[in-house]
Amino acid sequence: MSKKQLVVFMGPPGAGKGSLSKLCVKKFAWQQLSTGDLCRKHIKEQTDIGREIDFCIKSGKLVSDTLIVEMVRQWLKEVLPACTGVILDGFPRTIDQARFLKEFIHIDSGQYGLKIFKLRVSDQEVITRLQDRYICCNKNCQTVYSCRDGSSLAPRFKGTCDRCQGKLVQRKDDTCSSIDHRLKTYHAFEQGLIGFYDACGYEVTSVNGEKPIDAVFKDIEQMIGVNT
Ligand code: AMP
Repeated sequence: MSKKQLVVFMGPPGAGKGSLSKLCVKKFAWQQLSTGDLCRKHIKEQTDIGREIDFCIKSGKLVSDTLIVEMVRQWLKEVLPACTGVILDGFPRTIDQARFLKEFIHIDSGQYGLKIFKLRVSDQEVITRLQDRYICCNKNCQTVYSCRDGSSLAPRFKGTCDRCQGKLVQRKDDTCSSIDHRLKTYHAFEQGLIGFYDACGYEVTSVNGEKPIDAVFKDIEQMIGVNT
């Protein structure tokens, strides 16, 4: 039986983790676990968890490990048994989350092909990307666009999604102060996480995330090396 593929995308906000995950879903028919999307769903549906984390997300702080791990545990229990691969988009972000993942799905059991990619994007590029970022408000679409001049991610018609004609909106946490906080948080945890993976013997592949998204995906696709 072939191994289930587990791909982890690390990188600062705006590095392209979500867009690359969607390209992997399309290409390999894997499942995408975006903890950011799970959090936003709770907020939209005004669940107890949603009310608890709303402020955290808007201000760019991390949600507590306990809440995130519980959401992920639930998701993995439902989705993992029936899929051939999972892309982890924005998880793990802390060592405790990484430890949970390692233990919960027995990564070391040999049942998984684990690939960890770290997307390299400069802080200045992150800031510009996030300030220019627009997202389709249709929750079943959520395609990401950029209003930057000449960007390959620009929509055909300003303010409207190419795919579903949904309205394009900015994320509530794509404000200057929140971007600043999210970048600092990412840098505060990055080395610790890499150290953890290193101690576990997991390779972390650094990828240039500043190229256009299709070129980054091409690089990653080769490294994933799955025959489709
Ligand atoms: P993202 O969509 O990945 O940029 O995440 C948006 C926000 O959701 C983050 O700034 C955090 O507030 C929260 N969040 C997402 N994933 C995690 C995680 N693994 N741990 C803690 N907070 C998270």
